[in-house]
Order: sequence, then structure tokens, then C-alpha cells
Amino acid sequence: MALIVQKYGGTSVGSIERIKNVAQRVARFKAQGHQVVVVVSAMTGETNRLIGLAKEIQSHPDPREMDVLVSTGEQVTIALLSMALMEMGLKAKSYTGAQVRILTDAAHTKARILSIDEENLRRDLNAGHVVVVAGFQGVDEKGNITTLGRGGSDTTGVALAAALKADECQIYTDVDGVYTTDPRIVPEARKLKTITFEEMLEMASLGSKVLQIRSVEFAGKYKVKLRVLSSFEEEGEGTLITFEEDAMEQPIISGIAFNRDEAKITVLGVPDRPGIAYAILGPVAEANIDVDMIIQNVGADGTTTDFTFTVHRNDFTKAMEILKKVQSAIGAREVKGDDKTAKVSLVGVGMRSHSGIASNMFKTLAAEGINSQMISTSEIKISVVIDEKYLELAVRVLHKAFNLEQAA
Ligand code: ADP
Ligand code: ASP
Ligand code: MG
Repeated sequence: MALIVQKYGGTSVGSIERIKNVAQRVARFKAQGHQVVVVVSAMTGETNRLIGLAKEIQSHPDPREMDVLVSTGEQVTIALLSMALMEMGLKAKSYTGAQVRILTDAAHTKARILSIDEENLRRDLNAGHVVVVAGFQGVDEKGNITTLGRGGSDTTGVALAAALKADECQIYTDVDGVYTTDPRIVPEARKLKTITFEEMLEMASLGSKVLQIRSVEFAGKYKVKLRVLSSFEEEGEGTLITFEEDAMEQPIISGIAFNRDEAKITVLGVPDRPGIAYAILGPVAEANIDVDMIIQNVGADGTTTDFTFTVHRNDFTKAMEILKKVQSAIGAREVKGDDKTAKVSLVGVGMRSHSGIASNMFKTLAAEGINSQMISTSEIKISVVIDEKYLELAVRVLHKAFNLEQAA
């Protein structure tokens, strides 16, 4: 007998029919003698619909009320799935995040989980219940409802698996595993049997939304056995997220991630002296805007230099306003912005021991006339910022150039 946490995403619970299908799968695992905790998302489109309603009233909705609103999506699916399980003769019980007591910090709309009270869940499991928990939500110390950021049900699933010391956390979604890149963009993308935590962490943080990044962080930290699978297929092993030690010979590149949400800001002609990066980025950080890539050029004339960085596209207008305000205090000549940029990244632990990856990447992009506006590298990834209109082309040609459609 194993304890399994299964998380089903929005599409997988997108209709009554699909909720019944989920109930059948859960019943199969119960019939095999396993204990099952199910985490569900809201029905597909529901979270977006609720956010849309809020924005019809407030252009920047109050964060506390926003969490009260968007957490309702998951409250619907936990009840419906529990009913579907009961209809199949199983014992089932639903829990909201607050009812479990998934304690988070108070950062509304992007809260972090601090602790999980697993006592009630364990008692129900031992009494033979399937426990159905609302994803994406928690409660802060004062009893306010919080949510974990978009895609946060993945994190609920992994955090519950960690708290309950589950044997496996299964993430059921609308694809049958993690692919070399988003199969919606590159039909030739290949499903990976395994991917290392390190690579999955990079893929998620660089834009592959198949798993929320915090869920991967949790899985790595608490050594949760994590698998991505299809909720539409009966069979299949999906993709197992492994620790590098377990993996066999690694391919050089495991996948390509991309992100359309980048916006680029350049501060031109700033004095080339200590403290300048702080003078530019300090006010941006104070406004709670996360900065992603940063490049400071070598000053051509020895007195001034140019400074470029990227932010999330949603923060672009605010960041531009801030910089225009501090421009003269910094002594900058000009502030320029471009919110039609995108980032494409190659990820692979094999990069550590191979050279020539970057040059092959630049050659491939150049052959298509795609200009690399910014470049950043780490041990296991190379990211390039390009004009948004070339993103899909870039992903496709890189996928081909690195032979990712063929098994390594
Ligand atoms: P869910 O609602 O189940 O949480 P998501 O939409 O959040 O599903 O995540 C699944 C989607 O992630 C897929 O439909 C796919 O388009 C996208 N995706 C992006 N990158 C990848 C990748 N490398 N492998 C698999 N799917 C990916
Ligand atoms: N329903 C939430 C969202 O759409 C959480 C999730 O699906 O993981 O972001
Ligand atoms: Mg998701």
C-alpha cells in the first residue's frame, strides 16, 4: 500500500464528464489498496473569468478580496469531485486550504506555504477516505484566505506530498509528460522519460509552465518523487523528475524554454562609477518589481556606459515611470524601453561538460536573421532575448539544430 498525492489541473476537471473520469482514476488507485489525496484546480478558464470580473470593478483589485474571489474556483471542484467519488461508492471528503490549515505568509496573490497541518487528513485517510484538497489556496496567521500565484495547485500537491511523506506526487495534466519544449509550439517535441530536478527548475523558471516553479523547488527540497502524466490516457509512465545521480548518460540539451512576458529597459549614457547599478535598480526593487536579466556594458569613452535589464511585461509601464523620474538624478542621457521582447533558453546539465553550445545557438539564430539582444548564461542554461515576433521560429529552429526530436 502506498500513499499517493494526485493533482489534476484545470482542463482535467473542466467538465462534469472529466470530473467523473478523474473519480474513476482515483477509484482504480483505491482499488489497488493505495491511500489517495487528490488536489484539484478550478475548472479550466474559471480563474481567468474571476480575475476578469474583479477588473471590471477595480483596475487594480484589492489583493485580499482578490484572493477571496479566485479561491472560489477550487472550492467548486473539490465538492464536485467528492460527490463523484461518493457516487462510485467511495468515501470522500473535501477540504479548502483553510480547513486543512495550509498556513501561508500574508503575501496575497503570491503567498508562500509555511506549514501544513496534516493530522485531519491522515485521520481521514486511515478511515478509508479519499481526501480532496483545494489547490492554489491557503490561510494566513490571521485567518485571511491567500492564494499561491498562478499555477499554484502544483505547489499545493507537492507540499502535501512532502507533509504527508507520500510515496509519489502525480501531476495529471493535458499533456502526457514534460517535453523537450512546449508541444503546442513544436509538434515534433519529444516526451522525456526523465528530467533532473535542476533542469526542471530551470525550465520552469525560464517559462515552461507545465509545473509551477515553487512546486519543483519543494520537490527538490523535500525529495518528493514527482511525476507528470496525462489525465486523458489510461496508461503511460509520464515523466519522472529525478536527481542527477539517478540519471543515466545525460543529453547535452534536455529542453528549450521560452517566455513571452519579458520587457526590456535600457538606461543610456549613465556615469560609469561605483553605485550606478544600485542607483538604477534600487528604486525598481523598492517598487517590488523583480528584475530578470541585467547587462552593463563597458563604457566606450571611459566615463559613461549603458545599462539594460528586463522585467515582467506587467511591470513595464511602472518600471519606465520610475526610471524616467530618477533619470536626471542618476545623470542618464536617455531611458528606452521595448515590451515586444521574448526570451528563449536552452537547458541541459550536459552543458557543463560540453563546449560550443552557445556558438551553435547564435549561428542557428543568425541564419534566420534573428538578432540576439541580450544573452545570459549559467552552468546549465543559455538564454537569449529576441524580438517577440521571432519567438516561435527561434524555438523551432533551435529544436531542430540540437536534434531534440531524436532520442538521445
Ligand atoms: P494544468 O491546467 O493541468 O495545470 P498547464 O496548462 O498549467 O496545465 O500546463 C500544461 C501545459 O504546459 C501543456 O498544455 C503545454 O502546452 C505547456 N507546456 C509548456 N512547456 C511544456 C513542456 N516543456 N512540456 C510539456 N508541456 C509544456
Ligand atoms: N486555478 C489556478 C490558476 O488558474 C491555480 C492552478 O490552476 O494551478 O492559476
Ligand atoms: Mg498548471
